[in-house]
Amino acid sequence: MTMQALKGFKDILPDESPTWQWLEAAARSVFHRFGFGEIKVPILEKTELFARSIGEATDIVEKEMYTFTDRNGEQITMRPEGTASVLRAFIEHNLQARQALTRLYTIGPMFRHERPQKGRLRQFHQMSVEAIGSDHPRLDAEIIAMAWQFLEELGLSVSLQINSLGCPSCRPAYREALLAFLAARQDTMCDDCKRRSTTNPLRVLDCKSSHCQEQYQGAPVILDHLCPACADHFSAVKASLDQLAIPYGVNAFMVRGLDYYTRTTFELLTGALGAQSAVGAGGRYDGLVEQLGGPKLPGIGFAMGMERLILLLEQQNQAAIAAPAIDCFVAALGEAAVSRAFPLVHALRAQGLKAAMDLEGRSLKSQMKQADRLQARYTLILGEEELARGEALLRDMASKKQQVLAFGNDPAMIAATVMATMSTAQ
Ligand code: ATP
Ligand code: MG
Repeated sequence: MTMQALKGFKDILPDESPTWQWLEAAARSVFHRFGFGEIKVPILEKTELFARSIGEATDIVEKEMYTFTDRNGEQITMRPEGTASVLRAFIEHNLQARQALTRLYTIGPMFRHERPQKGRLRQFHQMSVEAIGSDHPRLDAEIIAMAWQFLEELGLSVSLQINSLGCPSCRPAYREALLAFLAARQDTMCDDCKRRSTTNPLRVLDCKSSHCQEQYQGAPVILDHLCPACADHFSAVKASLDQLAIPYGVNAFMVRGLDYYTRTTFELLTGALGAQSAVGAGGRYDGLVEQLGGPKLPGIGFAMGMERLILLLEQQNQAAIAAPAIDCFVAALGEAAVSRAFPLVHALRAQGLKAAMDLEGRSLKSQMKQADRLQARYTLILGEEELARGEALLRDMASKKQQVLAFGNDPAMIAATVMATMSTAQ
């Protein structure tokens, strides 16, 4: 039986890698300009970290986490998102002591046991950022602006929706109002919503069933229940976004799937990926650092889904072209020539050229085919006769022009000659 990858787990093949690398480079470029530094955190953490931060009564913790008992009997989980781990590391290493506002980003795989489909995998990749140490509304706008700038540099157009989820002082009253509204609809809502309306009523508004959505049309929204401080904060975020000319829509029904959010939340949406409409999402988590045992520090962050970004780039034909082109293919004929070519190719590589050869010493025809397939710019032909004369042929693969090179015994010297000839021929 041939072995296959697990359902929802995907290999990223060499011809896909350039797009991934390009996407990562584009993200790093933007994040660095905004003052973010990279942090790498482990894939495995104690289950409790996620249960306590994301929330027990969320889809992620209730049914999507890869959790198991390790050989020491410890409950551990493969991270379903980045924020909890990054904040755990922030607290553990006392990073707040270094600067007033800590800006961190991380790029890597996340794991959720969901139903795999286009843009939805069980192992997927996120680029996530966290800014910890300020509750200023301008920070919210700055972070959203960074996400926006990144997508703009990718050439992707998406829409931005924002909302405020209030804070522990305004949410309880809103929760009561929502519960009262939902109580009257218990008989007609779906089973998930029935359950959620007791465990996590805000999540009800996020139900994917259109029947439920219709019923919730007139539901009370948190924006009408914000305390003055949260209302002011939200207005200031909007004003700052206006200042940066970032267009947004307010979606009072956006609740997000993680419990730690407070105040500003946002989603970056596309119409081009069917049900998988969110390419990125985030928000404030002002109580989370403290909740995880750290200092009382506010924070905000977001995560972008790399697979969804790549699907969008491919749809818009913006996937990076694989660039396998090599500088010099050394075609050697006969054992004596192959044995001279072997250290020569190594010397060319050591000097910074992309060089290749055929280790098996196949026919000239077959080696020229290989050179074509590798899109070699030059081929250095070492035949037995040329070798006997102390010569080699350097062929420009585009113009088909050939020139004869003197060919001594020292590979470093030969490499230098080839390189010099190639650079003058360019
Ligand atoms: P969705 O509503 O699509 O399930 P989410 O709200 O669960 O998304 P977040 O937890 O906010 O997503 O994660 C941020 C981003 O990570 C999403 O906007 C999406 O681009 C990506 N993402 C989340 N889950 C998956 C997945 N299973 N496969 C691929 N990408 C994902
Ligand atoms: Mg989800």
